Amino acid sequence: MIIDIDSLPEEGLEVTREYDFFSMDLVDENAVFLSPVTADVIIKKVGEEVLIKGRIVTKMSFVCSRCLSPFEFPVDSKFDLIYFPEEMDLMKDQLENDDINQYYYYSRKIDLYEIVLEQLNLTFPTKPLCTPGCQGICPVCGKVVKNGVCSCSENESDSRLNKLKNILRDKR
Ligand SMILES: [Zn+2]
Ligand SMILES: [Zn+2]
Repeated sequence: MIIDIDSLPEEGLEVTREYDFFSMDLVDENAVFLSPVTADVIIKKVGEEVLIKGRIVTKMSFVCSRCLSPFEFPVDSKFDLIYFPEEMDLMKDQLENDDINQYYYYSRKIDLYEIVLEQLNLTFPTKPLCTPGCQGICPVCGKVVKNGVCSCSENESDSRLNKLKNILRDKR
């Protein structure tokens, strides 16, 4: 949805709608949408600056980077951005401004689709984990390790236990 900066009403414009994005547009291509992306965005022009505030709500499914199991990831994220006119972008190098959160609009237009997509991507974890302490996959049996236990460590602890029993028996 393209917003024409010069036709924004004085009091600002509120746009609430659903967006359809494709997995290939996401920073994590394994991510799947479990519910539509709803974004509530308020756009207000103050002088030549455009203030954009919004909230993005959706539910994603990610693949855990350790155990490779899919898991649900709810998104409820707020953003608050300032867009400057493109002339400021040209001056940027001279100003040596390190503020990476500066955005610019071009040809007096702002594309809400692009903004919502970018802000959604920013909410994604760089290394998705199903649980903070996920122990991943056992390199020996290839099964997911739960609470430090997989099928081979069960066998291993049995044999250890047997050895211990044998030792205790020998001592008697
Ligand atoms: Zn995991
Ligand atoms: Zn194992």
